Amino acid sequence: MKTNFFRKLILLIAIFYVPLQSMAWGTNGHRICGQIADSYLTPKARKAIQAILGNESVAITSNWADFIKSDPAYNYLYTWHFIDLDKAYTYPELQAYLKQDTSTDAYTKLNFLIAELKKPTLAKNNKLLYLRMLIHIVEDVHQPLHTGHTSDKGGNDVKVQWFGKDSNLHSVWDSQLIDFQQLSYTEYASMINHTTAAQRTKLQKDPISEWLLESNQLAEKLYADTKTGDNLSYKYNFKYIDILNQQMLKAGVRLAGVLNELFG
Ligand SMILES: [Zn+2]
Repeated sequence: MKTNFFRKLILLIAIFYVPLQSMAWGTNGHRICGQIADSYLTPKARKAIQAILGNESVAITSNWADFIKSDPAYNYLYTWHFIDLDKAYTYPELQAYLKQDTSTDAYTKLNFLIAELKKPTLAKNNKLLYLRMLIHIVEDVHQPLHTGHTSDKGGNDVKVQWFGKDSNLHSVWDSQLIDFQQLSYTEYASMINHTTAAQRTKLQKDPISEWLLESNQLAEKLYADTKTGDNLSYKYNFKYIDILNQQMLKAGVRLAGVLNELFG
């Protein structure tokens, strides 16, 4: 009896000890972006999207592409979530790089998904899959470390502490800064969702290359500002939370732009 208990205990510890490698905005980060996007959909786009997603909101469907990672059948989608940009790019350099980009990454797949969703003949099951992926990836590329370096897996290998607990730079930007605010995703979205029509027009005109340039520049800044072993806490939150919120706001507004163009 006793041995059995300890065996179970050890197994449980082993399961929870495995350090999880985070690879996307956390659950709430995605929902916040999705909730903001939803607020800017045209009635026509909202109706068309609802017809595809059923009872799932844009905010909730935002997490699907991360949740399926536990199913090996979806392993082929893994590299769609990010693009490795290994240095600080100027805009012309980045445009040249993207022009010849043939890898399976967030940039090539965003273009693929948008092109597919434009096709009136697209099969129903693909429509759902592609819409869910599109929503998720537009959000992901606004997390600066989704455009990070190959060598450290987008900051996953930059080991830092968050309020004294082991973490990494990628994870701090995916979840920890957001969770630290202690707001639900709807509360969070209403806190940061303030834009003028002129700002939205400008953001929704920006091409994908510009979204990536901004994330690349921000990622480079974060790398330069962080050393392995740093204990990030209040000061880091104060320094970066507005920038992080801006990124989520931009993701939401731009996602609405893409969805309105496809379905509006
Ligand atoms: Zn992701």
